[in-house]
Amino acid sequence: MNILVAGFQHETNTFAPTVASYESFVRGEDFPAMVRGDALYDLLNVNLPASGFIRCVREHGHTVTPVIWAGAGASAHVTTDAYERIAGEIVAAVKRGGFDAIYLDLHGAMVAQHLDDGEGELLARIRAVVGPRMKIVVSLDLHANVTAQMLALADGLVAYRTYPHVDMADTGRRAGELLLALHGDARPVHCVARRLPFLIPVNSMSTMMQPAGGMYELLEALEPEGVLSLSFAPGFPAADFPECGPVIWGHGFDRAAVEKAVDALLARACALEGDWAVQFDEPDAAVRQAMRIAEGAERPVIIADTQDNPGVGGDGNTTGMLRALLAAGAQGAAIGILCDPAAAAAAHRAGVGSRIEIGLGGCPQVPGDEPLRASYEVESLSDGRFVYGGPMMNGKAADMGPMARLRIDGVRIAVSSAKAQLLDRNMYRAVGIEPEAMKILVNKSSVHFRADFAAIAEKILVARAPGPFIADPAQLPWKRLRPGLRTKPNGPPFTP
Ligand SMILES: [Zn+2]
Repeated sequence: MNILVAGFQHETNTFAPTVASYESFVRGEDFPAMVRGDALYDLLNVNLPASGFIRCVREHGHTVTPVIWAGAGASAHVTTDAYERIAGEIVAAVKRGGFDAIYLDLHGAMVAQHLDDGEGELLARIRAVVGPRMKIVVSLDLHANVTAQMLALADGLVAYRTYPHVDMADTGRRAGELLLALHGDARPVHCVARRLPFLIPVNSMSTMMQPAGGMYELLEALEPEGVLSLSFAPGFPAADFPECGPVIWGHGFDRAAVEKAVDALLARACALEGDWAVQFDEPDAAVRQAMRIAEGAERPVIIADTQDNPGVGGDGNTTGMLRALLAAGAQGAAIGILCDPAAAAAAHRAGVGSRIEIGLGGCPQVPGDEPLRASYEVESLSDGRFVYGGPMMNGKAADMGPMARLRIDGVRIAVSSAKAQLLDRNMYRAVGIEPEAMKILVNKSSVHFRADFAAIAEKILVARAPGPFIADPAQLPWKRLRPGLRTKPNGPPFTP
């Protein structure tokens, strides 16, 4: 086979302050910068689904035709312009033909300004060209909001099984294996899907904890029971459209076997509904607790500043946790990454060792989150170029623009010119902060940081400082959810 390969990833928080423009995809932000054609092979050593897929099918003697790989950091809607240009490029390549099957590396939670179901619409446009017989397999993020259209139009959908997503390339490989299994067998393939009746907060989706970890253990135990592929996407609970929410599904030649496995997973997820709830700390309480634990600890206490996580639509610029650290007089603390291009530029103009009087950070869309006006010492400068070293994005080249390490009292702040989720220790090291040597680290991340930081953490706390991502989905101003869906575990059912 020759297989057409294209990647188009975005996780859309319809409540977030900033849209994803075409330029966001060109830069890539949390993802590698946009690449076309053979340049996609430059990503083969990066932990991405497409790289795992390509390696898998090549090992089996097949070839690929790479079209484009485009991803942008989580944010509000994908602009109509960005969607139409990138989807248009993929559909144009499909129209040129010359391939026997299609693999798409998608997220599954993309909402564009002009349509709810970015992935379903892309599949519909591709199906309109290739017809019903061409095999199409898709890999999805664990945060996919899987829709009926996606399930109907793809021959196979395969989602990540880890959060932090350390298995992105492995998922691409599983998509490759699924395609090969479907390709070699003429029997009809059945897809069975079930929706959970409640939304799950992202913080409790971490597969390093329960109940999420156990769900995927069960999934892997059930898969050999006559099923080709099983997936559980707990979803992205910040996209206001009727198909937002967790979905469990499977593919196989034996419909009864797939049904049995999917229903067993659904029963477990529902039986544990209360265990999916999350306890959040308020900022001052989190800092006080962190200082108490850090006193006798050899390793840093880590506080997740989850509501400003750029990985879920934050801009990485809120000041709530910084204020809480200063108010408590915290020493040996570091916060990262705070995105403020003007502050980074001021630091570069002033130079190392000088002091700058600026208003730092502040998210205009978050009531009360003013820039923190103060005098900051410029301790270190960097061009913002480094390579990720942690397990999730190992080997990915980062360019966060001019960066600076600012200091105020006992707090060091890693300031960047581009936003990105703090998920890798090298992001601190880029401005000379050794994360292991700090007493307290405040990471603008929800869960992904655990992949590289859990091993060095004395304790991990999750704080709810004001930010554009509302971590408790029951507190979001939903308008368009499916009626009756509970907006958090054991929470109130949505009524339009
Ligand atoms: Zn995700």
